[in-house]
Amino acid sequence: MAKSSARGSAASPRCVESRAIWDGTGAPPFPGRITIEAGRIIAIERFSAAEGEHLPPTLVTPGLANAHLHLDLTTERPTDRLEGPFTDWLAGVVDHRRREGREGLETAAARGIAASLAAGVTLLIDDDWRGCSNAPLAASPIRRAILREVIAPALDAEEEETLRAFLAAPHREGQELRSLFPHAPYTVTPGALDSLLALRPDAKTPWSMHVAESAWERELLVEGTGPGAEFLRGFGIDPAPFRLGRTAVEELAARGLLGDHVLLVHGNHLTEGEIALIAEHGGTVVYCPRSHAYFGHPPHPLPALLEAGVPVALGTDGAISAGGLSILEEMRAAHRAHPQVPVEALWHAATTVPRRALGGALGKGTIGGGGGAGGVGTGGGGGPAARGVAPRNRRCGDARHPRPGLPGAMGPRGGGLSGGRDLRGRNRGGAGGKREKMERLMGFEPTTFSLGS
Ligand SMILES: [Zn+2]
Repeated sequence: MAKSSARGSAASPRCVESRAIWDGTGAPPFPGRITIEAGRIIAIERFSAAEGEHLPPTLVTPGLANAHLHLDLTTERPTDRLEGPFTDWLAGVVDHRRREGREGLETAAARGIAASLAAGVTLLIDDDWRGCSNAPLAASPIRRAILREVIAPALDAEEEETLRAFLAAPHREGQELRSLFPHAPYTVTPGALDSLLALRPDAKTPWSMHVAESAWERELLVEGTGPGAEFLRGFGIDPAPFRLGRTAVEELAARGLLGDHVLLVHGNHLTEGEIALIAEHGGTVVYCPRSHAYFGHPPHPLPALLEAGVPVALGTDGAISAGGLSILEEMRAAHRAHPQVPVEALWHAATTVPRRALGGALGKGTIGGGGGAGGVGTGGGGGPAARGVAPRNRRCGDARHPRPGLPGAMGPRGGGLSGGRDLRGRNRGGAGGKREKMERLMGFEPTTFSLGS
């Protein structure tokens, strides 16, 4: 990993040239050249279509971001579809963690980081189970928000102390962000949620929670009954304190806890009214398409969320339910499930939206704008899909092809891009052409490059 770090040769400017640079600003992809010096982008040049024709048929993008995963659950998925009830599955995860123990879960987390980097993911937001991802992440170049998961009907003093120490532990600014992940409204009582959120350094520190994942969540929170109540009783937990008389989103909105810094994971069963509340009060919904399909949930309200102006990010959830940690695969799955959604919204969901939800603390997810090159995504090592297709990346004015040095680049899947001309031609084609082109680009495989900064 990161063998191709450009650190150490930072004095020599490097150029990345590609037939398609998608910079995340909303502009269509363009042929051009990015010049990087000392870890910062110092120039972005646009070429004409004719000039771009000789360039490698690649897509250069900001590094992909995974807005929700459980690194410690990077383990093989036993089946392609869930068999049995969701509550049994949840209980199975509890068992799995017990069986694996800390060592097994740390090994899984390291596997998850490597898989993420290989898939072009340069930023991830981990739902951190008991610190199992912390050491492997510290040894990795990936940018990360580590959100410590808390499952607590009530918070005791010892757990509070552990959480304070986790939040206060030294970590590199711009590379790592630490906060909390109150697991779900059916495992964290409103009182515990208040205590938890008060531990954050300030009221705008991002935090995340699984919300509206299953149909039974509503019944439990509103009525105090149903499979969710039975599930809790199975763990010896009284469901009564979880009965709010309203849903999680209604509760968060009423208590002033929603905001742009809140990541609501899943939202599979959000109603129109709840979507309107999120649009009004703020919040980013994280859609995990392949896990969604694994659990057989009804269609995700992605189109309604976008229609209402709610930012939507993409996540994988654990590999144990998604079957892998590729955000590009999530984009493809989202596109298959919602072909009417503009593909550019999916690109934003995979690059700019998660970073915006983190307040830009780990970069913006756009190429350019005066930010450091590291701000548009650093990754490690070429992925297995490099297959000889890479953006022309070299010392400026140097014909050799030494070290890669940019965010992420994607080469065509399955070899052979039939479409230098297609790419160029469709680029001219207005909104429809742009959409078609962005779809084609989703057929690419990522190769990530390290900046070493
Ligand atoms: Zn999750």
